[in-house]
Amino acid sequence: MLYKTEGIVLKSIEYEEADKIVTIYSKNFGKIQAIAKGVRKTKSKFGSSLEILTYAIFLIYKGRNVDIISQTEILESFFSTSREVVKFAFAANCVEIVDKLTEERETNIGLFNLLKEVLHYLRKTNDPKLLTLSFRWQVMSILGYKPSLHHCCRCDKTINDQKEVYFNIKEGGVICHNCISKNKEGCIQISLYFLKLSRKLLITPLSVISKATIPDIRIKELEKITNLFLTYYSEKRFKTETFLKSLKKD
Ligand SMILES: [Zn+2]
Repeated sequence: MLYKTEGIVLKSIEYEEADKIVTIYSKNFGKIQAIAKGVRKTKSKFGSSLEILTYAIFLIYKGRNVDIISQTEILESFFSTSREVVKFAFAANCVEIVDKLTEERETNIGLFNLLKEVLHYLRKTNDPKLLTLSFRWQVMSILGYKPSLHHCCRCDKTINDQKEVYFNIKEGGVICHNCISKNKEGCIQISLYFLKLSRKLLITPLSVISKATIPDIRIKELEKITNLFLTYYSEKRFKTETFLKSLKKD
C-alpha cells in the first residue's frame, strides 16, 4: 500500500552500502521513519530530497516492518547553500527539538505548520535567535505546556503591571506578590519587559516576529528562561512517555 504526504526531513542517516534511514515530520501522520534505497548511488532518483531541512512530497510504501520511500518531489529546500552556516545551525536546532519532543505517528498539523514557517522565515529574518526562541515557546504551547502569563499559578489572581514579577518553571508561569511573600521557592525574578514580550511571542505569527528585533540584554533573559522552561517540560514529557510505554509492555 502506498501513501502520500508532505513532510520535512528531520534526520537522514546512512544505512548499509547505499541506503538511508530518513526521519520525516509529516503533515498527515506526524513523525515517520522510512528507508530510502540506493540514495547514495550517483544517479539516485532522490537527488537532494532526503537531506535534512528539505520540505517535500513523499510517496511511501507501507512495508510490514519498515516503510520504504518510493518517490519524492522537493517543494522547498530550506538551506541549500553553505554560506548561511549560522542560520543552518538555528534551523537544525528547530528540527532537533521537533524530533525530540514528538513520538512517531502522532499527527499534529499545527506543529507541522509551525516548523514549516520557522524554517521559511529563518531565511529572511535579521534576528534568528529571537525567531527560534519564539518558535520554542509556541512549540511548548502546541504540545500542551503553555505557560500561565496572565494569572498567578497559585491563586489565579490576574497579574497586572507590578514592580517585581516572578516566574516559576515547575509551576508553569508567573506568581503574584501575595503568593511570593508566603513562599519564594523556585521562583526567578523576571523583568516586566520579559513578561510583556513572552505574552506577545505566544500569540504572534512567526511571519511578524521574523521582522522584529529586540536588544541583546533582553534576548539573554528570554534565552535563559526559554531554555529552563523547555528543558524542564521536555524531560517531563519524555519521562511520562517512558512511563506510559513501560505500562503498555505489561
Ligand atoms: Zn498568587
